[in-house]
Amino acid sequence: MDAGIDTMDAAAPSSNALERLRAAGLRPTRQRLALIGLLLGNGDRHVTAEQLHAEAAAAGVPVSLATVYNTLHQFTDAGLLREVVVEPGRAYFDTNTVDHHHFFCESNGMLRDIPARGIAVSGVPVAPPGTAIRRIDVIVRVGPQSL
Ligand SMILES: [Zn+2]
Repeated sequence: MDAGIDTMDAAAPSSNALERLRAAGLRPTRQRLALIGLLLGNGDRHVTAEQLHAEAAAAGVPVSLATVYNTLHQFTDAGLLREVVVEPGRAYFDTNTVDHHHFFCESNGMLRDIPARGIAVSGVPVAPPGTAIRRIDVIVRVGPQSL
């Protein structure tokens, strides 16, 4: 099944990675395979483009930060990832694409999942004319406990 795909030794993509790309309608280029392999290799994760770029470099995958950004956005558009913008200019890419919420620690950047059923949202206003609510994601901001 992998015949004809030139895989990279440094970050050997699993057949799962290949299947995920194909199911999402994305051509399995070497860079996409390497990056999706890094993303999916460790369970549910929240990574920034900078973190993934550093992981790619450590794994011997030659890829620019701009390409990492572009690829992460392509994965997000294809439904493989979900983007979590915690503040302007600061986004995490989430490999958990089922509905859920997050704790975000503003002092150390920790982002942790909260199951969708863990937060009840009520009193949601009617969506503006011509729009429909797609989803609601809540970010609960935390900091160190003061003594
Ligand atoms: Zn998450």
